[in-house]
Amino acid sequence: GILFEKVVKRFGDNVVLRELDFTVSAGERVTLIGPSGSGKTTILRLLMTLEKPDGGVIWIGDRPLWHMDRGGSLAPANEKHLHEMRKQVGMVFQQFNLFPNMNVLRNLIEGPVRVLGLSKDEAVERVRGLLDMVGLSDKIDAHPSQLSGGQQQRVAIARALAMQPKVLLLDEVTSALDPELVVGVQDLLRDIARESDLTLLCVTHEMHFARDISDRVLMFDQGQIVEEGPPDQIFGEPTEQRTKDFLQAIL
Ligand code: ATP
Repeated sequence: GILFEKVVKRFGDNVVLRELDFTVSAGERVTLIGPSGSGKTTILRLLMTLEKPDGGVIWIGDRPLWHMDRGGSLAPANEKHLHEMRKQVGMVFQQFNLFPNMNVLRNLIEGPVRVLGLSKDEAVERVRGLLDMVGLSDKIDAHPSQLSGGQQQRVAIARALAMQPKVLLLDEVTSALDPELVVGVQDLLRDIARESDLTLLCVTHEMHFARDISDRVLMFDQGQIVEEGPPDQIFGEPTEQRTKDFLQAIL
């Protein structure tokens, strides 16, 4: 699972996370909702080590990703540790972020070969099933520019899964898609979430998707959790005024 302990993140004077505490159990599926700018993407980026915290401890599994030592510097700061930890986390981004100069197959095997040290044959073997699962076996030689947004996002999902992560992070994965492609990608992710034992942390503005995919929803505002509970409760009978206002504004 994932544990945030008193995590602080600032950008200059802007304190985005103020001693944030939360836990996602192993195998649990959690969605973060809340107003724009409340810090949701920052949480995912911290877990991907794309940002560094300014305080607190972030755990993945039973090991700290990093924490502040007594001297106030980040520990363990060494690249080897971070490299090991990064292998456990996969992320799918809003903008797909495929390698544009590589075909679908190369996009998928790049990580398993370079990061995990699989042979090319082993990697190809591993990703064939994934391509089949996302319905793109016939696009194995295509380049990203030859694919629709929905197809590109399916490749990005397969690429994240090819690393066999313990934790999968989803950041607004359908917000760049044409409306008619959204449901297909959401259904795929829902099926993956239900059938795997992945720990899932999802940021979305699509409340139907949040309801579908999660065991628990965290309502987030100004760097703090305002309210949390099962989706039926958060969407059906929210107790906090800020949650009610937020849901009213977006539905
Ligand atoms: P959205 O729903 O719009 O994606 P969010 O809840 O994901 O919003 P974040 O993207 O985490 O919010 O941003 C939180 C705050 O941090 C915002 O005020 C944003 O301007 C600021 N911020 C994020 N990244 C940076 C950065 N690299 N440099 C400076 N400020 C940043």
